[in-house]
Amino acid sequence: MGSSLRIREIPNVWVKEGGRIYRNPPRPLIQDLNTLPYPDYELFNYEDLEEGAVHKILITQASRGCSYSCTYCCNSLLRSLYKEGGKFLRHYSVDRFLDEVEFGLKRYPFLKEVRFSDDTITQDKGWFGEFTGKYKNRIGLPYSGNERVENIDKETAAALKESGCISLDLGIESGSRFIRETYMNRRMSNDKIVEAFRMLNSSGINTNSFNILGMVGETPQTVLETVKLNAAVRPSVTFNAYFYPFCGTKARELVKERGYRVDADVKDFFSRPVVDLDTISAAQLVFFHKYFYLLMKLYGFLERRPKNAGEKMMKTLDAVLTSRYFPYFLFNFFHFGKDDMIAILRKYPGLYVRIRKVYRSVRGKI
Ligand code: SF4
Repeated sequence: MGSSLRIREIPNVWVKEGGRIYRNPPRPLIQDLNTLPYPDYELFNYEDLEEGAVHKILITQASRGCSYSCTYCCNSLLRSLYKEGGKFLRHYSVDRFLDEVEFGLKRYPFLKEVRFSDDTITQDKGWFGEFTGKYKNRIGLPYSGNERVENIDKETAAALKESGCISLDLGIESGSRFIRETYMNRRMSNDKIVEAFRMLNSSGINTNSFNILGMVGETPQTVLETVKLNAAVRPSVTFNAYFYPFCGTKARELVKERGYRVDADVKDFFSRPVVDLDTISAAQLVFFHKYFYLLMKLYGFLERRPKNAGEKMMKTLDAVLTSRYFPYFLFNFFHFGKDDMIAILRKYPGLYVRIRKVYRSVRGKI
């Protein structure tokens, strides 16, 4: 702004002049991440943050961008914005990245774990190979992150474990291959998903799954496919979000094309369904969202029964849960679980701070 450039020549800025909006082109992506300074670790005191005080985790990021294009994700939008802007997935050099982690840990030596907020850790196999060799020697703390099932094979699972990975979050998103491929642009088979979770679990790495409920094409039957796929892969934790069609994404266009109403008042994707679909009701979605974990355990239990008996019971359960006479609203009314508690605390952050204060003072006395 302080330069002699006219405001309509400054990249990344939209300007309103004379009642007209001028959309200046985006600035090219920074290709060499090593030129970036370290994050300002003084901006927030880790001792006061949940990550620091409760979990003792340093949050970091070794890359920018993602080489996939899921329809509902901001990366599909960003990629289209930067079509001419060079490489979309970029990494710090391994040494520069580890320098930054060491810098953060020097400032907050009480942190005992590292969390990668990268979209995936192992996409660039060359980078990951160098990283695993050096991370253990230089940092040596357990770490966790996000991953895609396609990137996991036996060698990668072993390298993750060997270098200190203790937990990975992986997107299943939908148990219906048709929904994944047609509406989400996620082209992996169910077998690949099962195999990746199996390899990680048997390497001793904790797995958590991400799921989206209420995507275009969703029906009670497809939600049950998601529940059953989760039951088959046995994640430690499931994160279940309602489908949220972010503006500018391909998924948003899809919703528009179909003429579905979007609830503009919903500000997050956990509290209630956002898109009014004609293939599944809001009450059904809320029910499956609230009881997802329980149903996953139940189907998992039935799957492990002797074949005929288990299959029969699962079919009966399928029929009950997808019946038009099933009282979803009654179950929804009486359920109060972890998600409701989180929703309340999110709505009233002051309450969370008070509870934490009381907890700390009590903990100090025992
Ligand atoms: S893999 Fe994850 S980060 Fe990458 S585009 Fe898909 S949802 Fe987004």
